[in-house]
Amino acid sequence: MISVIGAGPAGSFYSSLAAKKNDVHLFEEHKVIGKPVACTGILTDSVKSIIKIPKDLIISKIERFKIVAPNKKAIYIDLKKVNMVLDRAGFDQYLYSKAVDSGANIHLDEKFLGYKKQDDKYVIKTNKSKYNTDMIVGADGPRSPVARSAGIYGDRKFIWGWQARCKFPNLEPGVTEIRLNLGEFSWIVPEDDKIARVGVIGIRNQKLLNDYKKILGGSKILQDQSGIIPLYNPKQQLRKNKEDIFVIGDAATQVKATTYGGIIYGLLSGNYLAENKDMYTKKFNEKLGKDLWISLKMRELMNHMNEKQANELIEIFEKKTNSKVLSEHDRDFPSKFIVQLLMKEAKLWKLGFDIFKNKISK
Ligand SMILES: Cc1cc2nc3c(=O)[nH]c(=O)nc-3n(C[C@H](O)[C@H](O)[C@H](O)COP(=O)(O)OP(=O)(O)OC[C@H]3O[C@@H](n4cnc5c(N)ncnc54)[C@H](O)[C@@H]3O)c2cc1C
Repeated sequence: MISVIGAGPAGSFYSSLAAKKNDVHLFEEHKVIGKPVACTGILTDSVKSIIKIPKDLIISKIERFKIVAPNKKAIYIDLKKVNMVLDRAGFDQYLYSKAVDSGANIHLDEKFLGYKKQDDKYVIKTNKSKYNTDMIVGADGPRSPVARSAGIYGDRKFIWGWQARCKFPNLEPGVTEIRLNLGEFSWIVPEDDKIARVGVIGIRNQKLLNDYKKILGGSKILQDQSGIIPLYNPKQQLRKNKEDIFVIGDAATQVKATTYGGIIYGLLSGNYLAENKDMYTKKFNEKLGKDLWISLKMRELMNHMNEKQANELIEIFEKKTNSKVLSEHDRDFPSKFIVQLLMKEAKLWKLGFDIFKNKISK
């Protein structure tokens, strides 16, 4: 028996694959899948190589990014491949239904409390019962109780995303707006011409809350969708030594630090684990580790960028040859374009170096 803790995207997707060949039990502490929502639900086109997204889950499509500098100068990046904005609760429910269809045994409203090792097996304890199990998969989100009980929680850090679904004035449908001077970054993602998912992200403090109020302006909040996000930890253990205890998705801090998207990485990790548990860590490191690491380093630099430097960055990307690189590549995999950008644009080296000086002088 495999016990999967958490029916978010990572846990349900992994269960849908593993249950084809194994006795899988999927435990979820909530009664209803996918709620409460704490996510913008924007995905790049690369999700299509992992799973087909039913049309009715796509709320809107994003064709352009508008990036606004602190001095209000804006550039547009036209995406070669459109992004999707999903009904996030519907998406979780869809993946969960796939796990059910594959034969996973479902335990809703059942919370994992811990486990004990007994001979070669584990006994997991929930708020309702105890189960003998051969393998435990923690897909239980940022604060992963599985990682904690297994002693592989590590030194994880969190950031906070304030987000609301709201009525927002003057929306440009199909255009996601990013404002560089609010939080670590901020976004306005339209569902249509009246409603948007609007948020800021960063260390949770008064400044972030003030930035959140600024981006919301006077817009009418329909739903609060805020939540925590783990910062990618390159030292995170994905498996407890050689035991059959694993973590995937946010539970394993598999979130890219540039824009803090984690869904695609959680799905890919679920796939690698289901393919071959003994190769999971190696495959993750080979396929995703580099991109997550680059994203983390980019984020560390961006967090030390002052307003003048943010304005310079926008000027650099005003140049068509530079913005074209962003248009044509998937931001989930920066290793595929970062070198190309640096080769094309000497000003990026200088800017990067200046920001690095800010970083070390603090
Ligand atoms: C404001 C905000 C905006 C975001 N926007 C995006 C975005 O646009 N695109 C993107 O890709 N990512 C985005 N993310 C990140 C994304 O939401 C996560 O990366 C993603 O949800 C991770 O999926 P997961 O399955 O690993 O974990 P989760 O979705 O957190 O699922 C974990 C599940 O485990 C359950 N659980 C926890 N503890 C227990 C327990 N003890 N017993 C049983 N069940 C338990 C939880 O109830 C939950 O259902 C955003 C996050 C925030 C906060």
